Amino acid sequence: MTDSLSAPRPAEDQEPGTAGGSPLRVAVLGARGRMGSAACRAIETAEDLDLVARIGHGDDLSALTEADAQVAVDLTVPDAALDNVLWAIDHDIHVVVGTTGWTEERLQQVSTALEDHPQVGVLIAPNFAIGAVLAMRFAEIAARYYESAEIIELHHPDKLDAPSGTARHTAAAIARGRAEAGLGPVPDATRQDPEGARGAVLDGIHVHAVRLRGLTAHEEVVFGGEGEQFTLRHDSFDRVSFMPGVLLGVREVGSWPGLTIGLDQYMDLG
Ligand code: NAP
Repeated sequence: MTDSLSAPRPAEDQEPGTAGGSPLRVAVLGARGRMGSAACRAIETAEDLDLVARIGHGDDLSALTEADAQVAVDLTVPDAALDNVLWAIDHDIHVVVGTTGWTEERLQQVSTALEDHPQVGVLIAPNFAIGAVLAMRFAEIAARYYESAEIIELHHPDKLDAPSGTARHTAAAIARGRAEAGLGPVPDATRQDPEGARGAVLDGIHVHAVRLRGLTAHEEVVFGGEGEQFTLRHDSFDRVSFMPGVLLGVREVGSWPGLTIGLDQYMDLG
């Protein structure tokens, strides 16, 4: 995933959060899942938000329009998210997407759909945890100064896609940092690796995916230079860590028409 499709601009004539003082009407897709149920609880406890629809697998999306939802939060599965997002765009409903597993082709389909609905905002956030967003930004900065960089992402074994969206986004950020600093490919003399022990390579960065019972969502970025190593690590121990980011996305998405990739775009990270 690259950021090439992301050119967000906050709309000056739209109000974030409440619409005319009334609570923002929010629907959750994947409401019975681990993330979806946590998001429902977070939205229900937010005074400026109103949870108007809980959509599960097999439910009719028309419940969103019947409930007059203004924002849909997609926390489903990679194979369902694109259709859900396209449906919401078609019905002029802003969308906050936490579901991972996006490809360039699917992102392009979202961008194309938005051309006919330029007022609709879509946020695709590979990670809603504030610390993970900061780690991605810090990784881009650190990447300028180290010859070597690799990513290890660690998740629970029920995760459907690998590598994680966060790892993809982090690899792109590191590649940007390296390119700005004029760094070439990372050093690696490996010539034989029939089993793929060196991991996936995204934007020139090796990514290793660990799936382990007991984990939630974790990422380590290791940078190596002559005689030193610098490690950035973020751990989400509980899905509640994602909820401040989900709520930020829900409140802001209507003010950012078009496709935005990454919650960092809504934050002032310099
Ligand atoms: P989960 O527990 O498996 O929940 C997914 C839910 O979506 C299930 O309840 C599933 O129902 C439902 N579903 C499937 N197809 C659907 C459809 N077409 N419409 C509505 N609901 C549908 O998974 P999770 O751990 O909550 O994760 C959900 C997604 O969020 C994953 O892609 C994960 O990688 C991502 N995630 C993102 C972040 C972030 O910060 N961005 C953080 C954590 C996880 P059935 O089980 O009945 O099929």
